[in-house]
Amino acid sequence: MLEVIFLGTGGGRFATVTQKRRTGGIRVISAGSDEVNMHIDPGPGALIYSLEMGLDPQKIRAILVSHAHLDHASDVAVLIEAMCHATTKKRGVLIASKSVLRGNDVCEKAISRYHQAMPEKVFEAEAGLGFEIDGINILACKAVHSDPDAIGFRFETKAYGGFAYIPDSEYFADVSKFYSGLRLLILSVLRPSGQPWEGHMTTDDAIRILDETRPEMAVITHFGMQMIARIPEKEAERTEKRTGVPTRAAFDGMRIIFGEEIHIGRMGEKMRKEQKDLSSFFG
Ligand SMILES: [Zn+2]
Ligand SMILES: [Zn+2]
Repeated sequence: MLEVIFLGTGGGRFATVTQKRRTGGIRVISAGSDEVNMHIDPGPGALIYSLEMGLDPQKIRAILVSHAHLDHASDVAVLIEAMCHATTKKRGVLIASKSVLRGNDVCEKAISRYHQAMPEKVFEAEAGLGFEIDGINILACKAVHSDPDAIGFRFETKAYGGFAYIPDSEYFADVSKFYSGLRLLILSVLRPSGQPWEGHMTTDDAIRILDETRPEMAVITHFGMQMIARIPEKEAERTEKRTGVPTRAAFDGMRIIFGEEIHIGRMGEKMRKEQKDLSSFFG
């Protein structure tokens, strides 16, 4: 079983600088072992929230960065140092877009050469390229954003099927080519319905994407200030009603258990087995 843990659910400039929602990214770990330990999009707070939540950053084995914007990449250097045990070991894998590693016309690179030399392996990812990390097949997927090199990530497990993360992106025509056939789709819905912004996702875009990709479950995250004001849970409800895809709004500290079934709970909270025990206790 895998656990998908939200060290942040905020996105965009104002949610980031106010920390109205945290911006630490997403950790994926294998339940009860150190076999899988990946961190996706370490924005501001990734190190601190990781330590605070008891998710030892020195156990990270892979860091994935979708694009070079601050709310996705600010803490990547310090997480690389943690992954490499305070620079004493060449260790782990870094998978990142070209913009993150080398920069492009609109973004400076997000990681210095000094830090890029620390992981055991560094992969420059573009849509369509695949990697295998600790038994999970990772496919870099298309995204359409103001950083033209932005990529999403699709994770395929042998036992439980796939889940994916779409970073900042607007809707695009071949979205189902990259993100269909999934059990869980995580979408970065920066803005609520009716507030479009080029290169970003609104609830309306999320609805279109879900209509075409039809995952078993959807989770929306990466909320900007307008989305927070409109209450993400309500936008999730509206999305579920329109698409029929069960949709939840992520919250800081949310933990998804991804196994034969998909369960959602809170970090630090006892999950399924304990809940079952409780019901028999009260039953
Ligand atoms: Zn963002
Ligand atoms: Zn961005």
